[in-house]
Amino acid sequence: MGARLGTADSDLADLAYLYVHCDDCGNVRRWSRARLNDAERRGYRSLPTLASKFRCVRCSERGGSGRNINLRPILKEDDDVG
Ligand SMILES: [Zn+2]
Repeated sequence: MGARLGTADSDLADLAYLYVHCDDCGNVRRWSRARLNDAERRGYRSLPTLASKFRCVRCSERGGSGRNINLRPILKEDDDVG
């Protein structure tokens, strides 16, 4: 549990990419590793903190909260098929 360098202490470091799914309208976005790296640099270190950042534009434009966001992380091992 010691301090580690860089983003090694980040839950996001294990992710290959991330699906951002809106449970209200079904809108799905895919976050690439590059965007995750960017989020880490901004100080996001875990999925719950990252989830608080997301809002569905489609729903908020229609007057909804846009906050019914479901994050589906794809781990690097899962992506390593074959
Ligand atoms: Zn939505």
